[in-house]
Amino acid sequence: MKLYPLFADLSQRAVLVVGGGAVAERKVAALLGAGAQVTVNAPALTVQLQRWVAQGRIAYRPGAFCEDALERAWLVVAATSDHVLNREVATLADHRQIFVNVVDDAALCSFHVPAVIDRAPLTIAISSGGEAPMLARLLRERLETLLDHSLGALATLTAGLRLRIRARLPQMAARRRFYESLFGGPVAMLLRQGRPDEAHAAAEHALASAAGAATGSVVLVGAGPGDPGLLTLRALRALNEADVILHDRLVSAEVLELARRDAERIEVGKQAGHHRITQDGIHALLLEHARAGRRVVRLKGGDPFVFGRGGEELEFLRAHGIPYEVVPGITAALACAAYAGVPLTHRDHAQSVRFITAHCQASHDTLDWAALAQERQTLAVYMGVAELGLLQQKLIAHGRAPTTPFALVENGSRPQQRVVCGTLAQLTQRAATHAVQSPALLIVGEVAALATSLAWFGAPPLGASVHPLPRARPERKPRAAARAADELLGAIHRA
Ligand code: SAH
Repeated sequence: MKLYPLFADLSQRAVLVVGGGAVAERKVAALLGAGAQVTVNAPALTVQLQRWVAQGRIAYRPGAFCEDALERAWLVVAATSDHVLNREVATLADHRQIFVNVVDDAALCSFHVPAVIDRAPLTIAISSGGEAPMLARLLRERLETLLDHSLGALATLTAGLRLRIRARLPQMAARRRFYESLFGGPVAMLLRQGRPDEAHAAAEHALASAAGAATGSVVLVGAGPGDPGLLTLRALRALNEADVILHDRLVSAEVLELARRDAERIEVGKQAGHHRITQDGIHALLLEHARAGRRVVRLKGGDPFVFGRGGEELEFLRAHGIPYEVVPGITAALACAAYAGVPLTHRDHAQSVRFITAHCQASHDTLDWAALAQERQTLAVYMGVAELGLLQQKLIAHGRAPTTPFALVENGSRPQQRVVCGTLAQLTQRAATHAVQSPALLIVGEVAALATSLAWFGAPPLGASVHPLPRARPERKPRAAARAADELLGAIHRA
């Protein structure tokens, strides 16, 4: 069925809804939202519909459907559970040339109600012509996640400026450039940040100085640990809007895959030992692309503010007057802990957690080892693979028990994730036996022992000879239970 899309102005126009149940109620709510004059014809009403009648928001025609109710109606919605009645309503409406929608019966409809993404005054409507409503719904969900809620405010702001933009920039090409900079630049950014007054000021300023030149911006985005499912919706949107992406080596291919196809991707990865591009080099690139009017995404593994030098980059951008935003990401400590089944805090075992880095001599000298060696706390050590020996030695020397459990998580949240477990005394030897490579995160503390019983992702932990912590609740066997469930499902499937 090929449909002709249209948006109808129903304000002050009569619409008849036949049926007084939950489905009718939903239809009435949407119609009221569009300002329609709704009459409901039904023998009984839901509580909400009764309330609307009492408030005078809708008219009520009690009793069975009566053809007279079609009088004056611009549209009719048949929302009863009685197919025969729905068909009768549809036939009579057709006869009078009134558009009719029969809920859940595409064949009887002369108009369809699309799936809607509401960013008023912007509305996106999706229809599959009644052929694939689930697909339309799925698409709607996707678009919902992609489109920021500030879009409505952006549309309103633009509407207010439209005539003046046209006057100031009579040429179509210049106007288009101006709109692009409005939608993709600092004005949209300020609206997203919930700063409407500044957004208006920025738009006015841009218009006053408009020769149509675009201003660039930078979004510092946390890409998470690798599993693309751990990206935030904001991160996804930024990736979709980027002209240029400057990314670290740690950012996974699956995450980069989600970025806009024609965004330029530049790897500025740095690896301990062999720096490829210096931090100054990265700053220079950020500045160059932003000044050229591009939307730059600076994409970092994990969270940009956790051992990510995000602070330095913002200081630099601020000093050069480049507008910026920050989108947090799931940092390695949180992701690795979750994906290894290690709760970083636990009422019985650890009341605090520290994120530390130990990748060079300087960091070893400045760390407060006595504090780090205390019990009942969890250490999450970043960039520690090359320094495990020193770490082990210092912690034990400052009083941490050699029997303290550790979990070393390599490639956390990625398909190739490995978890190596043991005690502090075994740390270096275990890591060497399993040839643990960067990126890996070390978790030291009583909670690390829980990996052996709570692991759920990827391969089971290696070298787990640590005695599991005493359990408050009787042992559950998640793997056995899962296997039983699988077998049951298999049996049902075969039957
Ligand atoms: N900003 C990042 C950290 C960068 S430092 C974040 O918030 O996660 C790089 C260190 O992070 C690595 O040496 C490693 O210790 C840790 N790391 C990052 N991703 C990791 C992953 N997927 N698995 C294990 N460790 C990871």
